[in-house]
Amino acid sequence: MLHFRSYAQKTEQKKEKRNEQMTEQRKTPHAKITVRFNDGSELTFHDIRKFGSFQLFSRNELLQELKKIGPEPLSEKFTPHLLFQLLQQKKNANLKTTLMDQSVIAGIGNIYAQEALYRAKIDPKRTAGSINLHEVKKLHFYLQSTLQKAIAAGGSTVDNYSHLEGAGSFQQQLAVYQKDFCPKKHSLQRIVLGGRGTWWCKECQK
Ligand SMILES: [Zn+2]
Repeated sequence: MLHFRSYAQKTEQKKEKRNEQMTEQRKTPHAKITVRFNDGSELTFHDIRKFGSFQLFSRNELLQELKKIGPEPLSEKFTPHLLFQLLQQKKNANLKTTLMDQSVIAGIGNIYAQEALYRAKIDPKRTAGSINLHEVKKLHFYLQSTLQKAIAAGGSTVDNYSHLEGAGSFQQQLAVYQKDFCPKKHSLQRIVLGGRGTWWCKECQK
C-alpha cells in the first residue's frame, strides 16, 4: 500500500481515465507526477507555480506524520470546546492564520477561513486568544457549515481548481472572498494576514 501527501498552492489534481485529453496534459511543462493505477486510471499532480511537493511514506512513517496534523474540522472530535482550547494554545497569534495552521486544525484554507469568520461576524485581525466561548460556538458552527456547503457544491473554482466532474460552484455562495461588497452591501476591506489576501467587513465583523 502506498500513501501520498501533497503540499501545494495553486495546483490542479485530476484523476481521469486515460484518454486523448490526458495525453495532452502529460505534454504540459508543469505536469510533474503521474501515478497509474491498475484499473487504467491515472492521478496527475500538476504544479503550475512550482510551490508543491509530493512525498511518499510507508504506513509507519505516515502515522508519525499524521500526528503533526490537527483534528479534522468535520470530525466528531472537533467540538466547540476543543476549538476553544486550540485557540487558547495560540493566544497571541492571529485568529485567521491560526485557523489555517494545519498543525492546529486540518484542512481549512484561505477561502473557508475568511468566509466562516464573516458568517460568525468576527474580525479576522483579532488574536486567537481574544475569542470568547460564545464566539467560539458561532465560529465552530460556521466553520463546519461553510465546509459542508462547499463540499456539497464541489468546492470553489476561483483560479484553476477543478474536480473529476468539472468545476466547483461554491464561488457562487461566497460572501466576502474577492468581493467588493458584503451581502449587506457594505464596502469590504482587503488586508494581508499570514501572507494571504483576506476580505472583511468592518461593519459586520467585530
Ligand atoms: Zn457588512
